[in-house]
Amino acid sequence: MTAKSFHPETIVLHAGYRADPNSHSVAVPIHQTTSYQFRDTKHASDLFALAEMGNIYTRIMNPTTDVLEQRMAALEGGVAGLGVASGQSASTFAILNLCQAGDNFVSSTDLYGGTWNLFANTMKQMGIECRFVDPADPAAFARATDAKTRLWYAETLPNPKLQAFPIAEVAAQADQIGVPLIVDNTAAPVICRPIEHGAHIVVYSTTKFIGGHGTSIGGMLVDSGKFDWEKYGDRFPTLNHPDPSYHGAVWTQAVKPLGPVAYIIRARVILLRDIGAAMSPFNAFQFIQGMETLPLRMRAHCDNAAAVAHVLSKHPKVASVTYPGLMTGEARRRADAVLKHGYGALVGFELKDGIEAGKRFIDSLKMFYHVANIGDARSLAIHPASTTHSQLSVDDQLATGVTPGYVRLSVGIEHIDDILADLNQALELA
Ligand code: PLP
Repeated sequence: MTAKSFHPETIVLHAGYRADPNSHSVAVPIHQTTSYQFRDTKHASDLFALAEMGNIYTRIMNPTTDVLEQRMAALEGGVAGLGVASGQSASTFAILNLCQAGDNFVSSTDLYGGTWNLFANTMKQMGIECRFVDPADPAAFARATDAKTRLWYAETLPNPKLQAFPIAEVAAQADQIGVPLIVDNTAAPVICRPIEHGAHIVVYSTTKFIGGHGTSIGGMLVDSGKFDWEKYGDRFPTLNHPDPSYHGAVWTQAVKPLGPVAYIIRARVILLRDIGAAMSPFNAFQFIQGMETLPLRMRAHCDNAAAVAHVLSKHPKVASVTYPGLMTGEARRRADAVLKHGYGALVGFELKDGIEAGKRFIDSLKMFYHVANIGDARSLAIHPASTTHSQLSVDDQLATGVTPGYVRLSVGIEHIDDILADLNQALELA
C-alpha cells in the first residue's frame, strides 16, 4: 500500500503492509528468523548481486523491520528507511555512510550528549573530524565547510536548550553548496517532518517517541531521495567511486533502477553487512505497535507539556521555564517555523534554590519516573547537573544549557490533573 498521500494518523496504521500473504494475519508478523531459504542457486546469486531484491540474512534485512522502515519513510515523506539497533547506531551510520578517514563534517553544537561524544571523540579516533558550529548562526555551517566536508548534522529540537533548529535556512545553504543536511528528529516526530523543510536525511532514536512505551532500543535512517549525489561527484566518494568491497560497484549507478536510494542501500549492504548493528525483529514489532498511536500520543504529550509549562512559569519557586511555546524573539520564530503541530513533550525549568532544590524536587516526585530517558508514555524527570551532565565542568554544563537547579521533564500522557498534582507536591518540598 503506498500511503504517502494519507495523513500521518492513517500512514502509521497502513503504510507498508496490508495482510500477510500466507497467513492473512492483520497484525504484522514477527519474523524471528536469521535466514531465508533461497528458491535455487540462481535466486541466491541474484540476491547477492543485487540483481533481485529480497531477503538473505536478518543482519541486513528482515520482513518485520521492512514494514517499520516503509512506515517511517512514508511518515517522513522519504523514499526508504533503514532500521538499526539504536539511535546511536543510526547517527554513526549517517556519518560513516559518507565520511572516511581524513574527511570532515559540520555539526550543530546543540546535540544529545551521546551524539556529542560520538562526534567529538570516537569519530576523531577514526580520523573523521567533526566541526562544531553554533546553530544561532546558520551561516556558520557554510563557513566551516571545505572540499573534504561530506555532510551537515543537527537536531530538530535539542535538549536541554529546546531551541528549534532552523532547518529550512540551513538546508537552503546546504543545497547551494551541495552537501546533505542530516537531521535527528528524535524529539519531534509528527510535529516536525524535516524533509518538508529541506532536510535530506532524517535519523531517529526509535527508542523514544516512536516506540513510546520505554520497552525497546532502536534507530532509523530515512532517505528523502532528494539529494543529487551524482551531481557533486568527488565530494561523495563512498557513493560515486567504485566500492572495492562490492565488486567495484558505484552505488549511484548500481541502484539507479530502484530509484534515488543510493544512500540508504549503501548503508544497508555495506554498513549493516560490516558493522552489524541490526534492529531485532521483535523490537521492530514493538516500534510498529508504538507507531500506531504516535500521532495521538504526540498530541497528548504536547497538550500536557503546554499546560505544565504554563503552570511552572507562574510558580514562586521556579526561576525560569525552558519550553519552545514560551520563547520569544528569534527562538520563538524558529520554533513556530519548525514545529508545526505542537511544541513537543519536553519542558525544562530552573529552581530558584539551585542544585539542592533540584535534587529535593526529584526525590519528592511520586508519579513521575526518575530516569535518563525521554519519550515514554509515562512522565519522566531528571536533574542533569547531578546525573547526565555531572561529569562536565560547571562551565561546560552552562554551555550546554544546564544550570545547577535545572530539571528536565518529558511530560507523559497521563491525565493532566495527576501530572500537575505530582509536580505541585514535589515543588512544595523542593
Ligand atoms: N538522539 C537523540 C536526540 C537522543 O535523545 C538519543 C538518546 O537519548 C539518541 C539519539 C540515542 O538514541 P539511543 O539511546 O536509542 O541509542
